[in-house]
Amino acid sequence: MITLVRRVTTVCALAATLSALASCTAPEATRAPLPAPSATAASPSPRAPTLAPGPAGTTPVFGHGPRSGAKAVALTFDADMTADQGPRAARGERFDNPGLIAALRELKVPATVFMTGRWAEEYPIQARSIGRDPLFEVANHSYSHYAFTDDCYGLPTIGEERMRADVERAYAAFRKVGVRDAVPYFRFPGGCYDRRALRALTPLGITAVQWDVVSGDAFATDAGAVAREVLDGVRPGSVVVLHSTRSAAPTTERVVRSVVPQLRRKGFRFVKVSELIGAASGRR
Ligand SMILES: [Zn+2]
Repeated sequence: MITLVRRVTTVCALAATLSALASCTAPEATRAPLPAPSATAASPSPRAPTLAPGPAGTTPVFGHGPRSGAKAVALTFDADMTADQGPRAARGERFDNPGLIAALRELKVPATVFMTGRWAEEYPIQARSIGRDPLFEVANHSYSHYAFTDDCYGLPTIGEERMRADVERAYAAFRKVGVRDAVPYFRFPGGCYDRRALRALTPLGITAVQWDVVSGDAFATDAGAVAREVLDGVRPGSVVVLHSTRSAAPTTERVVRSVVPQLRRKGFRFVKVSELIGAASGRR
């Protein structure tokens, strides 16, 4: 486990150095305890279940679903693009991964896509297509992919006074490209958060979504190794973090094609994050 954490941390550092994706693992110390579940509706999509507010009424944090009952697992894909990566995209770097999305459709795997607003602007047709496909749900990964804490794998940091506006700007970008009903779930860039960040986002009524399984697909070149991390880590209720950003996570489609049939053979069913949160809060 220590080795894994060190390796993942290295990946995160690399990601930050390249100013690419840094949706990696959250250090244990930053993980808030899971709040008591309830069924609080929230904007922007009142149909999606959210958790009750966390300690002191702040943004709740979801890490995984119930461990008992049905063997459900949620694959989540971060569609990373940082606010200042436009020139790299213009030079041909691909921050999208249409083959991965096609594989999920072909395999009929429901999934939650945590999209940055900048990504939606760069790939509006894909964003709309994902957002209007009932197989998927679009969640918020900030507009800029800047860090919400001072020390997050070297990512540029966003000021406290701009945190809420950055998340709202992503939702506005989703609406502008035609994504309806983006869910009220937010993944912190790099998975980094603290009480100040949770407090700043409280008025939005969103649920922060972390994960309990790190695939390690960021900058991986060995699809088999990433698949083993997923297969070894998944338990009932797990949330797996992967990426739908081809340039920085080139093996992910192969990983999905490998792990999906294997997990199904083990009796797992793929669900969206909303179903796990609904189960945790007593709503189905
Ligand atoms: Zn990310």
